[in-house]
Amino acid sequence: MENMISFNIPPYIGTEIEYIEQAIANRKICGDGQFTKKCNSWLQGRFNAQKVLLTTSGTTALDMAMLLCDLKEGDEVILPSYTFSSTATSAVLAGAKLVFVDIRPDTMNIDETKIEAAITDKTKVIVAMHYAGVACEMDTIMDIAHQHNIMVVEDAAQGVMSTYKGKYLGTIGDFGCYSFHETKNYSMGEGGALVINNEKYNERAEILREKGTNRSKFLRGQVDKYTWVDFGDSYLPSELNAAYLWAQLENADLINDNRLAVWSEYRKAFEPIANTGRIELQFIPDGCVHNAHMFYLKLKDIKDRSMFIDYMKQNGVLTVFHYVPLHSAPAGLKFGRFNGEDVFTTQESERLVRLPLYYNMDNNDLRKVIDLSLNYFNNQNKER
Ligand SMILES: *Cc1c(COP(=O)(O)O)cnc(C)c1O
Repeated sequence: MENMISFNIPPYIGTEIEYIEQAIANRKICGDGQFTKKCNSWLQGRFNAQKVLLTTSGTTALDMAMLLCDLKEGDEVILPSYTFSSTATSAVLAGAKLVFVDIRPDTMNIDETKIEAAITDKTKVIVAMHYAGVACEMDTIMDIAHQHNIMVVEDAAQGVMSTYKGKYLGTIGDFGCYSFHETKNYSMGEGGALVINNEKYNERAEILREKGTNRSKFLRGQVDKYTWVDFGDSYLPSELNAAYLWAQLENADLINDNRLAVWSEYRKAFEPIANTGRIELQFIPDGCVHNAHMFYLKLKDIKDRSMFIDYMKQNGVLTVFHYVPLHSAPAGLKFGRFNGEDVFTTQESERLVRLPLYYNMDNNDLRKVIDLSLNYFNNQNKER
């Protein structure tokens, strides 16, 4: 179809090209140049974070976090099953067994009241994935972690700019992981960042990120030559990508406000139909400020959702469902187990559909998505 409304369009401010050209003119297109430094320090300053390092993706930020947690063979990581594969595969890379816990139906985040039952003497890490940029119940999760001497990794891939009780997501656990993939609020094509909240991990993180060398120390003049000191990998993004991100971070509030405005329009339009019980809307708990990463609806069941997605597509709008629970996926079966009962994970995941939402979304497109959706709900109402 000609005028299909996309589900996502990567954010573009306009100054990206200029900054990429600057990086080229600087004769520095590999990692850790001027643009990477600007991005790191902007993120540190804005989020009041101890240390932030850009990475090649949200996935590699998670890989770094899990490797820094120093897991031993047989150690266990607690995580929701309703999440992206990266959350789980980083724990597998670090040698852990996965223990999946059910989600809360209202936020689709890990159910903090079901975490304690999943803890064994092998549990080393809890992963808090902040779905749709809405925070997990972090006070409870941090209390449990402290009581049992467990580390907390925040998968804040979707939560850049969101807060929980005034704290930016990613800065609450031991480590936070952001994604700057093109589907996220701020982008560099592919990229991410690791937030380190305890300075005792700074040096090891730099070594891990720089192929196992102490090159970062060398560049700061703290050692007179650099050498291979430990296990490592390469997690530095190119300056070309960092330059693209810098244009977006400079306009972080503009992008955030713009997305929130679209989100609020959706919310206002769907509230009446939600009040009839036909659909359910996202719940934002007290103390959580979100970043409009996503606007989703919950329909009656998987059949209703498929019909909705088809109807929208036939009328030129792309809407999508989200994660198939990891514990039921081939790799989930291989690397993990579900602790307790799957009350909400599967059921709620089958009801959820995401509507188009991106920076600078055309107002006519937004109206079209709303009108078509309401049309569907009003007509299907009678038959079901
Ligand atoms: C996007 C995302 C990731 C991975 O980020 P990439 O930058 O694509 O590697 C991880 N976890 C969650 C929850 C995500 O949404």
